[in-house]
Amino acid sequence: MTEEIKSCPHCKVDFDGGDIYESLRAHHLYKDKTDEEVREIASNYGWSPETPRRFSRLITVKIQGTRQQYYQCPDCKEDVARIKYRSPFEEPDTIVVQI
Ligand SMILES: [Zn+2]
Repeated sequence: MTEEIKSCPHCKVDFDGGDIYESLRAHHLYKDKTDEEVREIASNYGWSPETPRRFSRLITVKIQGTRQQYYQCPDCKEDVARIKYRSPFEEPDTIVVQI
């Protein structure tokens, strides 16, 4: 859901965190896993060879005691987007409103 926000509107930094499979493959936690096992883990993030999704560096901030969340830039710490809920039963980041 954060894929449409590619860079920071404040400091212009790129939020691209790299290809999900490539990032996991390079991670020390998965060094003993086979490529097949890493592909399986990457698929939990919605990655597939046909849809090679990428990680986002955006930080998700949850406001304690509320259901409000927003995205923050990892570099300048400015707010980038609010995350709105469609309903209490859906995933929290179904609507992203860019600030
Ligand atoms: Zn920024």
